[in-house]
Amino acid sequence: MQLVTFERREDRDGGGDTQGSLSEAALGFETLDWSGLRARRLGAVIPPGPRAGDIVDLNRALLVRLSFDDVGAPEAQADSLLPSDMVEFLRRGASARRAAEESFAWVLDSVERYDAPDLVRAGVALPSRSVHLCAPVPRPGKIIGVARNYASHALERGQREPPEQPVLFIKSSSSVIGPGAEIVIPRASQQVDYEAELAVVIGSRARNVAVEEALGCVAGYTAANDVTARDFQNTRGQHFLGKSCDSFAPLGPVLLTADEVSDPQDLGLRCVVSGELRQDARTKEMIFPVSELISFASKLMTLEPGDVILTGTPAGVGAASDPPRWLHDGDVVDVEIDAIGRLRNYVRQE
Ligand code: ZN
Repeated sequence: MQLVTFERREDRDGGGDTQGSLSEAALGFETLDWSGLRARRLGAVIPPGPRAGDIVDLNRALLVRLSFDDVGAPEAQADSLLPSDMVEFLRRGASARRAAEESFAWVLDSVERYDAPDLVRAGVALPSRSVHLCAPVPRPGKIIGVARNYASHALERGQREPPEQPVLFIKSSSSVIGPGAEIVIPRASQQVDYEAELAVVIGSRARNVAVEEALGCVAGYTAANDVTARDFQNTRGQHFLGKSCDSFAPLGPVLLTADEVSDPQDLGLRCVVSGELRQDARTKEMIFPVSELISFASKLMTLEPGDVILTGTPAGVGAASDPPRWLHDGDVVDVEIDAIGRLRNYVRQE
């Protein structure tokens, strides 16, 4: 499944079609409006076929099913079986996952039947234009980054010998934004850079996991931009701060569940800045593959459902150009990963 976290556009927006949608986010034509507080919901994207690209509200789909079955207190049951918060959903493990799959299958079956309930009126199947996408995991418990995990990038940053073990760092969870949102260059920095990365979302608790078992702890994968203020990261020794500014962790557009990724080390990964291809690599070039990163980190710390690992960036960052090419107000940054889609964000000067 392609899971998303979304917010329904409010009726007071007028129901117009001028704002962003998932299909547009994936294609990269949208301007999303993130104003106002809306309830975040767990959704799944309908695959090619009837209502392709629409979003299924999974919790609501289960609620409608339970209501048909005359179950008592269907809302409480649906909330407990299939929570709408992504991290809570992941924490519930296999039972919630099964409830999501069954509800999704029921909706896919229903959209093909003329005698099925009206799923649009029931708020179960939402036209893509009627939702805003958020980061799939809007507030991870922790975000772990990996320094120099592609030899090409290590080399362009002046390091010839590959590291003996993964070099991990932490990035603040409060830096997460979703597709279509703005990367804001803080007034305090003049050297903001992009890093296209495959992001791993942990699905089950992991401590002392063997390399061979590590991928079993993965819920799925999404695209990430590990935005970095180089003037803080490098010259001032402020690695944490340079990685953790507000808006410096765009994630999305979808969480592609692990069962749909046969090999996370065989994905194409690109970064396009204002129409220019800057990074173009494959995940097989990682020095430490996803399984080793998880196993290594889990020897020292517990990885929890909803934690995110950013797996490192390949060559082509702005800092490696001569002269360096930092992000500027008005830039549009796309991170594209095969099967996951395009994560587009707009750059704005604070
Ligand atoms: Zn990075």
